[in-house]
Amino acid sequence: MNRRGFLRDLAGAARRPEPAHEPEPVPALSAEEVERYSRQLVLPDWSEATQLALRERAVLVIGAGGLGSPVATYLAGAGVGRLGIADDDAVALSNLPRQPLHFTPDLGVPKAVSAAAKLGFLNPEVVVEPYQVRLDASNAAGLVEGQDLVVDCSDSFATRYAVNAACCAAGIGLVEAGVVGWTGLVMAIRPGETACYRCAFPTEPPPGAAPTCAQAGVLGPAAGVVGSLQALAALRALAGHPVESGFLQVDLAEPALTRVAVARRPDCPDCGAG
Ligand SMILES: [Zn+2]
Repeated sequence: MNRRGFLRDLAGAARRPEPAHEPEPVPALSAEEVERYSRQLVLPDWSEATQLALRERAVLVIGAGGLGSPVATYLAGAGVGRLGIADDDAVALSNLPRQPLHFTPDLGVPKAVSAAAKLGFLNPEVVVEPYQVRLDASNAAGLVEGQDLVVDCSDSFATRYAVNAACCAAGIGLVEAGVVGWTGLVMAIRPGETACYRCAFPTEPPPGAAPTCAQAGVLGPAAGVVGSLQALAALRALAGHPVESGFLQVDLAEPALTRVAVARRPDCPDCGAG
């Protein structure tokens, strides 16, 4: 373009009226999302706004095993926007009866990777981030940072106490759970409002004191029930439903659920006032 043409274009641009400010687009669910989530959208306390908010949430699931399988499946299915899956184990043969995110061809594959692949098929709208890492006291703060909720599906007391401390320090909601033999526990925690895990269980059991699933055993559906209750607690917390202080004790042999109220401890080293 010659100089005259350039100046003519410049003058033309100067005469053009300022473009009107585009109104901010109102976020809405796509037709596919409305169809996909239709059975939860019709719930009386689950609106389109709830669903849109869920789409903006980031949740870290710690452990992709017996509890993590149902938890991650239901959170991805429900439309949580961003799902981190932290697990440093590989799929083993003895995992398969109770960890339905992993199949026989996945033997030897990192669980975080195997889980992320299945979740991607389940709901491509969800951003799934696999982390091949074991959460401990040294990295807990960094891993939970920026999350809207953490769901601890680990099978280790050391991890539970580290996650609890990190979530309390950062003010991030947490759903704890555990299952072994015929008993389970689910505890939703809102730091600063409800009792934390250490308020309920002030002393960490010494290593080897509490039986593991490898020692005491567990049936797949027992882990499935507790993991499903944990996923339910997570979705209710994400949707802003009230969180009661305490935990749910699950007797899987009866079966029976017992709610145990727990008060916050003012001297709790994790969530207390100091
Ligand atoms: Zn506490």
